[in-house]
Amino acid sequence: MGRIPKFRCVDSIPEVTFFKPVGIPYRVLEEVCLSVEEAEAIRLKDLVGFEQTECARRMNISRPTFHRILGAARGKLANALLNGKAIRIEGGTFEMKKRRFFCINGHQWDVPFHDMISAPPRLCPTCESPNIIAIQPHKPGDRGRGRGNIRKAAIE
Ligand SMILES: [Zn+2]
Repeated sequence: MGRIPKFRCVDSIPEVTFFKPVGIPYRVLEEVCLSVEEAEAIRLKDLVGFEQTECARRMNISRPTFHRILGAARGKLANALLNGKAIRIEGGTFEMKKRRFFCINGHQWDVPFHDMISAPPRLCPTCESPNIIAIQPHKPGDRGRGRGNIRKAAIE
């Protein structure tokens, strides 16, 4: 029996999810694939600059797990940068901390992930319109192969 994967919390999915080095034809281009939680680890530690303990707390994982994810992420980025490979950010075992909803009248609000699973909102809290929609955690127009993975990982 496999263990049920523990979801890592992420605040957001990067807007840009594919990076390609200049001057390398696609047919010989190699790719490294960064999971969404690996990208989040880089963001928290190297971009925002939190201590590892704080990063781990924010992602709802242990410090050793965070350390391992961060190490894997840095290794992949180094591999891509120094060996001229493309970087794709997709998939993983994560959940969004919250999901943004819009109503037909233009109101928007955020619903925490666990609330959305246990009791999905039915009405806009402002105007009580039932015509509401959740924004999916992928870019509109992103038809890359990561889309299904990201959605699956975020919702299941
Ligand atoms: Zn509304």
